[in-house]
Amino acid sequence: MVLLNPGPVNVSERVRQALLKPDICHRESEFAELLHRIQTKLLKAFVPGAESEYVAIVITGSGTAAVEAALMSSVPHGKRMLILNNGVYGERMSQIIGLHRLGVNELKYDWTARPDPERLLLALRQHPEVHVVGMVHHETTTGLLNPVKEIAEVVDNQNRVFVLDAVSALGGESIDIAKSHIYMVAGTAGKCIQGFPGVSFVLVRKGFIDKMRAYPKRSWYLHLTHYIDDQGRGTIPFTPAVQVYYAFDEALSELLDEGVANRIQRYRKAATLIRERLAKLGVKPLLTPDRQSNTITAFHLPEGVTYPQLHDRLKAKGYVIYAGQGNLENKIFRVANMGALTEAQFNGFLDAFELSCKSA
Ligand SMILES: *Cc1c(COP(=O)(O)O)cnc(C)c1O
Repeated sequence: MVLLNPGPVNVSERVRQALLKPDICHRESEFAELLHRIQTKLLKAFVPGAESEYVAIVITGSGTAAVEAALMSSVPHGKRMLILNNGVYGERMSQIIGLHRLGVNELKYDWTARPDPERLLLALRQHPEVHVVGMVHHETTTGLLNPVKEIAEVVDNQNRVFVLDAVSALGGESIDIAKSHIYMVAGTAGKCIQGFPGVSFVLVRKGFIDKMRAYPKRSWYLHLTHYIDDQGRGTIPFTPAVQVYYAFDEALSELLDEGVANRIQRYRKAATLIRERLAKLGVKPLLTPDRQSNTITAFHLPEGVTYPQLHDRLKAKGYVIYAGQGNLENKIFRVANMGALTEAQFNGFLDAFELSCKSA
């Protein structure tokens, strides 16, 4: 099955084979070495040249675990967060904070609009109690790319902490985490890094770690400094998904072999192929090109076809597309182009798509 959903993705044979490595105990040196390899590669891939300024914390859990860990570990007692919300995942950040009864302010945007630095600057000046700003890099809801660099600049100038959900962006979009002084970046193995789901991570700026130690502990499993202390000793507080870590390690090697910039280029090319062909078929994208990411395109449903019809026809031919969420549920469909897929596979999908529209 060719997966055109935003994770889990199709992985290479090389990554799949890594699942078959020997059984190991996570309290033994073999695991310490595996963990260390993963951390080193994460830093090499995502903060190149600034590896010594960041720590990579690896968590067994899907991407949401990393986002939740970052949010809960970053607020001092009595301070608040401000979330820039323009989609399902921004909304989720707000809900996480709300659930833990940490104070949350929100700047809400239409799902096709991008957060603006000017409004954020004003809000931060008006709200000195806001300590943390949270935003999603690539809003998977619509395939919209948020202006990370511009927002990070405001957050940094106003001396706040930036928590970025880059779960669907790392490996697919270019970003300079270190130069933008982003304190916390959440990511996952199972999207653009082309590993399996089940492992996620947070990149934390070192200077922030000692501050975090003074903040209240709000979760047993997701308390980041707990992981940092253990990982410093080559271990991890809880039983990790060892086999998935092996595959993650291999996926990171694969990413570094390909080169992050080349991976991004490959994704951009695939997205362009899909967009150009669907444009020829008269299928309209939800977003203007300047807002689109490299890895997901949301399209309006073609005339006379419902999402379930389109989905089922394509699935019968071996291709899985993705529905819209929330108020876009019955209006759009999404095509992701993450994963170990070839141009021939995308062309196969596009041919199948054309046929599926005709059989309407
Ligand atoms: C996929 C995704 C997540 C996490 O989802 P999980 O199902 O927990 O892996 C978080 N944020 C964004 C932007 C995502 O695309």
